[in-house]
Amino acid sequence: MSEIRDIALAPSGEKKIAWARRFMPLLNSIEEDFRREKPFAGLKMTVSLHLEAKSAVLCRVLMAGGADLRITGCNPLSTQDDVTAALVQGGAQVWSVYGCTAEEYDRHMAEALAFGPHIIIDDGGDLTSMLHRDMRSLLPGVIGGCEETTTGIIRLRAMEREGALAFPMLTVNDARCKHFFDNRYGTGQSAWDGINRATNLVVAGKNVVVAGYGWCGRGIALRARGLGARVTVTEIDPVKALEAMMDGYEVKTMDEAAAEGDLFVTSTGCCKVITERHFEKMKDGAILCNAGHFNVEVDVDWLERNARDAGEGRTAVTKGYTLPNGRTLFVLAEGRLVNLASGDGHPVEIMDMSFAIQALAAKYIADHRGTLPRAVIEIPEEIDTDVALRKLSASHMTIDTLTPEQEKYLSSWAL
Ligand code: NAD
Ligand code: SAH
Repeated sequence: MSEIRDIALAPSGEKKIAWARRFMPLLNSIEEDFRREKPFAGLKMTVSLHLEAKSAVLCRVLMAGGADLRITGCNPLSTQDDVTAALVQGGAQVWSVYGCTAEEYDRHMAEALAFGPHIIIDDGGDLTSMLHRDMRSLLPGVIGGCEETTTGIIRLRAMEREGALAFPMLTVNDARCKHFFDNRYGTGQSAWDGINRATNLVVAGKNVVVAGYGWCGRGIALRARGLGARVTVTEIDPVKALEAMMDGYEVKTMDEAAAEGDLFVTSTGCCKVITERHFEKMKDGAILCNAGHFNVEVDVDWLERNARDAGEGRTAVTKGYTLPNGRTLFVLAEGRLVNLASGDGHPVEIMDMSFAIQALAAKYIADHRGTLPRAVIEIPEEIDTDVALRKLSASHMTIDTLTPEQEKYLSSWAL
């Protein structure tokens, strides 16, 4: 049972998966452990992720650990149909098709949940919210889950506050080996990969406006500067605004920056960060895109209702909107995650670390079934340390360790 585009695409997907696996030493070592230990024997799991090669490697590692797996996407524009074909060819069950409608997206998730998973792996909270909203009869069977991203965790904390969360959820994003590298260096590199593929324009000399100076925004701004852009940051947090200023960027409101920017990248997790009053001030030809959760950071809805299709745009998911004032703005990837909808997402080695955390967090849930509270649970420090040590070892690096004298010095107060 599966629903994918075309099984004949499998050879191309298999090549991408083999390439990714070649550069994922952490997942390879975890797979060896899982083959031996079978931590998921007898357990059903539903995974909702961006379905490209690195996620496919994670899925195979979970299956090697004995999981009975069902797989679905977490964004209608990030599924790669050749990769899902390879997964199905290899014996996995997948429901996902690139470019699916909102109804199909929900139906695919429902199919992947229908067998009653014991463990879920979510990215952004759509799977978790469908379970709690429409499939409540399955809730008692779930022993726990893992959430991949910042916004998903914000949604989980809201559920926990309202007493709505029905099972333990581990916050993969909060592991240091996740957001230090994935959100910052992963988004920093892959957002520009997506933008460059979509536009084929030069970045050097452009006025780039980055909305949000959190983990992702820092990476996006850093790499924009490396490519030669003049970078302006917008923020709502006064401390982060000062951090951006000390890091050497201009800090302005979006109202001020709107008229000056050539290229805008949002990464806030917020809605309407760029909206009507900003659009109206922008230069003709300005380019807008988003690297944060969901297609509401740039108010594409307003453009759809109030602007005319300019009939221009270099790729299928790039659209020009001509405003009532006659200027045309370009939105990349429908305002969805530009790094995944217009590229392959984060680089392989970055996802090796993020998905090593995912795999070990899922094992932690299996190992601790029945003992964890119905709450949002921080990733245990030992998982972060395990992943960091595996990464250091794979990178042929060793670090110092404390001597007994140093340990005593660091833990005493009477010096
Ligand atoms: P974060 O909390 O570290 O940073 C978000 C920043 O945006 C904060 O500093 C906040 O003050 C600021 N902000 C909020 N509303 C704003 C507004 N209206 N205007 C300007 N600034 C505003 O979060 P993060 O880890 O950087 O993640 C940001 C978003 O990106 C989240 O939605 C997350 O889920 C998503 N994300 C995407 C990718 C990807 O692959 N594209 C990777 C990781 C995270
Ligand atoms: N479903 C939401 C989720 C935000 S995605 C949405 O589509 O808007 C943000 C997450 O995508 C990050 O936390 C990151 O870990 C993950 N990601 C980035 N590149 C990826 C890749 N190449 N493969 C799988 N996941 C990736």
